[in-house]
Amino acid sequence: MIKKLFRKQKDYLFSEKKSTVCLVCNHILEDNYSILYVTHDKDDGMWQFLCGNENHSTDDARMISLEEAVTLDPSINGLHDMPLGLGAERRTKSTEWKAFKL
Ligand SMILES: [Zn+2]
Repeated sequence: MIKKLFRKQKDYLFSEKKSTVCLVCNHILEDNYSILYVTHDKDDGMWQFLCGNENHSTDDARMISLEEAVTLDPSINGLHDMPLGLGAERRTKSTEWKAFKL
């Protein structure tokens, strides 16, 4: 009972289903890198969460659910209402997101 009381109410803010497929790079998934570069594709609505390295190849891409992405880095909840066709980046995990047009 006590545990329940203290559980965070809003640990998932995206309007998409938790099972929605999104892309992350293997650096985030396997090497514990921070998510520093996010895009929300205009054509297919796909979210991409990348570590901010310049040179990603398709080999670096991993498909996970949005819920897993939020679990990896709950701070991406801050981008849950970012419209299609926009991206956001930040320099470190503790700096503000800066939005840009794709
Ligand atoms: Zn990466």
